Amino acid sequence: MKKILYSLALAVTFWSCKTGSTGTAKSNTVEVNINLTDVKDDKVLVTVTPPAIKTDEIVYSIPKTVPGTYSTDNYGKYSEDFKAFDAKGNPLTVKRIDDNSWSISNAKTLKKITYLVNDTFDTEKGTGFGNDDVFSPAGTNIDAGKNFMLNTHGFVGYFQDKLDVPYKVTVTHPETLWGATSMTDQDASNTSDIFTTSRYAILVENPIMYSKPDYTTFNVNGMDILIAVYSPTGKYTAESITPEMKTMMTAQKNFLGKVNSTKKYTVLLYLSSAAKDDAHGFGALEHPTATTVVLPESMSKEKLVEAMKDVVSHEFFHIVTPLTIHSKEIQFFDYNAPKMSEHLWMYEGVTEYFANLFQINQGLIDEAEFYTRIADKIDQAKSLDDTMSFTLMSKNVLEQPYKDQYLNVYQKGALIGMCIDIIIREKSNGERGILDLMHKLSDEYGVEKPFNDDELFAKITSLTYPEVGEFLNKYVAGTTPIPYDFYLAKVGVTKATEKKPGNPFIKGQTPNITIDKATKEIAVRPESESIEFFKSLNLKGGDKILTVNNKSYNLDNIYDLITESENWKENDPITLKTKRGTKEETIKGTVKLPYEEAETFKATDASKEKLKNAWLKG
Ligand SMILES: [Zn+2]
Repeated sequence: MKKILYSLALAVTFWSCKTGSTGTAKSNTVEVNINLTDVKDDKVLVTVTPPAIKTDEIVYSIPKTVPGTYSTDNYGKYSEDFKAFDAKGNPLTVKRIDDNSWSISNAKTLKKITYLVNDTFDTEKGTGFGNDDVFSPAGTNIDAGKNFMLNTHGFVGYFQDKLDVPYKVTVTHPETLWGATSMTDQDASNTSDIFTTSRYAILVENPIMYSKPDYTTFNVNGMDILIAVYSPTGKYTAESITPEMKTMMTAQKNFLGKVNSTKKYTVLLYLSSAAKDDAHGFGALEHPTATTVVLPESMSKEKLVEAMKDVVSHEFFHIVTPLTIHSKEIQFFDYNAPKMSEHLWMYEGVTEYFANLFQINQGLIDEAEFYTRIADKIDQAKSLDDTMSFTLMSKNVLEQPYKDQYLNVYQKGALIGMCIDIIIREKSNGERGILDLMHKLSDEYGVEKPFNDDELFAKITSLTYPEVGEFLNKYVAGTTPIPYDFYLAKVGVTKATEKKPGNPFIKGQTPNITIDKATKEIAVRPESESIEFFKSLNLKGGDKILTVNNKSYNLDNIYDLITESENWKENDPITLKTKRGTKEETIKGTVKLPYEEAETFKATDASKEKLKNAWLKG
């Protein structure tokens, strides 16, 4: 998974001060029908025909959590009107045990169950941060006639102890909508698709997005790639982002080498209007042969492609870990009583590190850009708890206070990967790095062969150097903050500074604008009036910003304003309608971005050039 700390996410601070404004069973197969044709009240009818049941009671569960999300989401909460019937259509007694499970009596006579599913997108309250919303790429969307995001675990459950029986899922859908997925439709009909999987876990790994067909397909080194896009206003098409995706995925395959044997890979991109009843958790979730991505449609082409490169590459690298290399907790995943592994530093951290390293390795970004990214990660890791044991956090990530530190997997987690890479490069005279280690681990373990959580460090040490083991014990299991400068110095890289343009409305974690609780209007924070952007437009603290470039903004679409502002360049013309007291005014001017001194790194030690090149280009 990758959650994006897009500056939108920081708008969560606005919400915290809001004023309540949000408001036929044969044999041994589970057969499921998902009816996307007759949507009533924004709900989808699911009908499940069980395999033969031999007990008097049977429990049917929808997941509490799914792999890759590391959060408790209770997908069963979105299902209602759960009914069970015998062969004559008589109702059986059903008891709801908790948010996710129903117990059915007289189960030997059970013929079918039905229930209605609500989607998660239109119940999301915030940004996917600091609240308990289902992260959008793991969520579901029901927008009759337009778009259905079927993260299958949101619609389909499993019978207790029957996770390993085959599934046959029939989706009936309007003729105008096409289902994009890595699964193969076994039905020739234009209004019905049939998908079969050998067990529940494989169904969960195969999301399907139904929308007006907008997709491209291409082949990269023997792998068939499908890119499907849903863009509500039609701003973007699959075609419009395919060249960049093709370049990026080719580079990934070249970087990865022999690890990956996936034959088909599907990218499902859902672009959100970011309106109140639409998705707000931006980022993506990984699967062995697919990824679901949710981003705001208001992003500029440049930012969208940039985000897709970062996010899709991250998800794709998950094929290495945890999809290939993982512990028993992941292999024997319990959807309703999950146990977490200690090794998020590897599953998410090394994955995120690869998603950056391959870009410099394959020439998609230059050295300066790579160092800026490393410096950003160090900076963001500082705002999190640097003395919390990473393995302890990982093991307990579903609970507080560990849960709030999860985002550090993309920051410190990636930096852990970098330091290990540098140690291995130094010890091997540049010949090997962490990618080589991951190849060895995937030879040792694999999709069907998990490791024990507590044996991984010893295994890694035996495959590399004692120094790697010491690093893992001291800085990953231990509570000592990592001295990044020390490791970067090994490859001749030292601290430097650069000037970077910031966002006029947010600096770091602090917004420069606020909300008038009574009217929902956006106002300049008095503490922020000295910012060049406001000064040059003659705005003072407390001034209301009513429109920007002729579009109206308030609390309800404040996200749009911030995404829109991410596209601004220095000296772009800008027109604002403002209000000071009761006096409205139209102001014309130009955009003055705030510039900040930011830390970065630079190669300064020529004697380490060879090792540095092996690290970045090897
Ligand atoms: Zn991830």
